[in-house]
Amino acid sequence: MTVGFIGLGAMGAPMAERVVKAGFRTFTTFHKRREAADALAALGATVVDSPAEVARLADAIITILPADAELEEVTLGKGSLAEGFSPGKILIDMTTATASTLLEIEGALAPRGVRILDAPVSGGTTGAAAGTLTIMAGGDSALLEECRPLLESMGRVIHVGGVGQGKVVKIVNQMMAAVHLLAIGEAFALGIRSGADPHTLYSVIKESSGYSKMMDLRLPGFLLEGSFKPGFKLDLMKKDVNLALASARGQNVPLLLTSVAGSVFSAASAAGKGSDDFSAAAAFLAGLAGVEIA
Ligand code: NDP
Repeated sequence: MTVGFIGLGAMGAPMAERVVKAGFRTFTTFHKRREAADALAALGATVVDSPAEVARLADAIITILPADAELEEVTLGKGSLAEGFSPGKILIDMTTATASTLLEIEGALAPRGVRILDAPVSGGTTGAAAGTLTIMAGGDSALLEECRPLLESMGRVIHVGGVGQGKVVKIVNQMMAAVHLLAIGEAFALGIRSGADPHTLYSVIKESSGYSKMMDLRLPGFLLEGSFKPGFKLDLMKKDVNLALASARGQNVPLLLTSVAGSVFSAASAAGKGSDDFSAAAAFLAGLAGVEIA
């Protein structure tokens, strides 16, 4: 199987590196910045001019792009994958986007014989580099088995249902991650204001009922150090929370905590933190009380 890889960002670049190092012949292209494509070429990948060209050359094309608009542009727009696809080709979309967008893309491409796998990921940039991502796969079982060796070069695959179900599971995860993160910001603000040491709070709550994995993921190296180099950009988490809110509105599900989280992420973004790591939103929330967690 030859592979196309589109979207060499914070996640895509280390994921593509693992694919190339696993021995898959890989084709890629670039959008605005060429550096990541050149770095992949240095490992043996081939850089071509457009997504259409990638679709002509590769059997299975992976996309991991910011969100729905970019995914639509790369799959169906001018010079897109759609222009290069032929029957039997495979699109594996690993973007965190909405199920409805991917289903629309499937509606446009499936009649032309393109097979679609939904495969968003969790595990962050460290998981991407280590090949330990959780891959939430949605789609046909036989297609998943065909793609399993490729996917397993990047992480652990869990089959969660049909096309679109990967996106659903991923968005639920993002809602919980966003709320857990902000709970740390708010609770630590009160603790610190009341005289507690943030390192003590971390070590005690890690063994107590208030613990969440988010503490391990975003206290050391980020909140405890006051360092917010992404990682996962705050504006991408804002996007994910908004995807959840939009989807819930369509289905009459009230999202009380997620709505508040969305407002905090919007305010932090408006305060200039959109390109920082998303943990900056917890620092922003603590900052409303005049408390610094670091
Ligand atoms: P980045 O912003 O770092 O990377 C996005 C990549 O997409 C860049 O290489 C960018 O190229 C490319 N791109 C953007 N627009 C287009 C376009 N129209 N055509 C072609 N390429 C385009 O994002 P991440 O890698 O952090 O995230 C990617 C996806 O993975 C998102 O959906 C995110 O929610 C999800 N995710 C991210 C995690 C993280 O920890 N970062 C963890 C799990 C999931 P260029 O820069 O040249 O424009």
